[in-house]
Amino acid sequence: MSFTLAIVGRPNVGKSTLFNRLVGKRLALVDDQPGVTRDLREGAAKLADLRFTVIDTAGLEEVTDDSLQGRMRRLTERAVDMADVCLFMIDARVGVTPSDLVFADILRKRAANVILAANKAEGKAGVAGVLEAYSLGLGDPISLSAEHGEGLHDLYTALLPIAEKF
Ligand code: GDP
Ligand code: MG
Repeated sequence: MSFTLAIVGRPNVGKSTLFNRLVGKRLALVDDQPGVTRDLREGAAKLADLRFTVIDTAGLEEVTDDSLQGRMRRLTERAVDMADVCLFMIDARVGVTPSDLVFADILRKRAANVILAANKAEGKAGVAGVLEAYSLGLGDPISLSAEHGEGLHDLYTALLPIAEKF
């Protein structure tokens, strides 16, 4: 058995960068799959010896703050319902924003397994944001740099006990 990981969070935190790093060239042709729109990209992920399906909540890029409670919420809820585990990503350089709190709320109510990740944490600029992430009450954050490939070992360690359940 394998499991499905959904990467969720507000636009521009680095979800697609992590998705691309996990999937490489193994991108599924989601257009061919009934019920999956281009707003959710699905791929076959590989992280060390773990193999799993990863979902990227794409299509949020043009969402304005006004529609945050609507389209973004629905899309995120769909991804959460498809997933065994959610990776909730915030931007360590920005810290916790009001939008992040909306996502945290969805995940607390709806997701069985949540891994909190503070991305863009390379260098010193992310330190304060990582500490802020503790206030979300979703467990200890993982420091990630999707762009530089840092923190993937911590992601692996967080995924292992979940992978063993499936
Ligand atoms: P998404 O909207 O959440 O899918 O975010 P993207 O993956 O499209 O990334 C948004 C921007 O953040 C892009 O310019 C990325 O190059 C940048 N980015 C992603 N990951 C990192 C990271 O680890 N560090 C830094 N500094 N920038 C990143
Ligand atoms: Mg994206």
